[in-house]
Amino acid sequence: MISKILNKALEGENLKKEELLRLFRADSPEEIKLILETASRIRDQGSKKIKLTSTVHLTNVCQVTPKCQYCGFAARTSSEGYYHPFYKKEDEILKAALSVENSGIPRISCSGAHGYQGKQAVSAAKIVKENTSLELLVNVGADLNNESLHELSHYETDTVCCNLETVNDNLFHQLKPGEKLKDRIQICDMVSEMDLELSSGLLIGLGESYEDRVNHLFFLKKFRTLGEIPIMGFNPYEDTPMANHPPCSLKEQVKTIAITRIMYNNIRITVPTPTIGPENVKYSLLAGADNLATVIPEHYPSDVKGVGSPNYGNLKEVIKVVTSMGLKIEYKNASK
Ligand code: SF4
Repeated sequence: MISKILNKALEGENLKKEELLRLFRADSPEEIKLILETASRIRDQGSKKIKLTSTVHLTNVCQVTPKCQYCGFAARTSSEGYYHPFYKKEDEILKAALSVENSGIPRISCSGAHGYQGKQAVSAAKIVKENTSLELLVNVGADLNNESLHELSHYETDTVCCNLETVNDNLFHQLKPGEKLKDRIQICDMVSEMDLELSSGLLIGLGESYEDRVNHLFFLKKFRTLGEIPIMGFNPYEDTPMANHPPCSLKEQVKTIAITRIMYNNIRITVPTPTIGPENVKYSLLAGADNLATVIPEHYPSDVKGVGSPNYGNLKEVIKVVTSMGLKIEYKNASK
């Protein structure tokens, strides 16, 4: 049964909801291996290189109230996170971006907490695009408006990310009582209408059902410029209301990455190293991911606490893993 579904996917046929649900219900090591093999074959048919994305966190001062239940990133939410409030100054953003460019990593994500209507993102985009040749993703969630999106476009921001996290409205409300799902959907619509590439992902392991994940993957089809789907497994941050909620298992993360690849053959599928765990990067690649995010080079000028967990992938280690798997990597050698 599962082989039949996977063969359909390999032949380029669109799978139905029930078929995707059947894949999510796969539990035996044999079935999961088949799903992963199919997903990486589909990725490799495109002979795409694995992309690396680094990060700069702009501020952890978040106006969303009450805070998202799982958040360990915003100031004062977790002793394991940044904890103390910060706003990166322009020269700090510049130094971080130059350190990423010099390391050979081709892409940077500028992300931060909410409450600035996108002004913090625009200022970062200006710095990155006027001083480096890095590809740029901006992620300030729903904290954007028409004006800031126009300015991001003006500075040639390559991708704007607004994760819906889950399309289960009740669950969204429980997890993010200070935000509304419809506001995030509206930003995704605006990004698409402005012809900017949209990145929008799933946060999994928070109590959503397989049906919620499948509905979410179908829902994303409505965004015309969708170019990237991050798959983020939940990890509890200490001191937060969800500190005792179990982390999303590696099995659920790889299965979701692989099913997303089976459904979206040509899209960039991103796995942040903090959410899967730097030691598990290999499994995300086996599942068909083609972008590893929050990859931090040596001599990066500031402290990094990953969004989703305090850990992150070190550039040298990540390159070792990707190349040892025989995969091609998009990486400019830093000999310039
Ligand atoms: S997850 Fe983002 S929006 Fe929510 S409280 Fe944390 S920083 Fe603010």
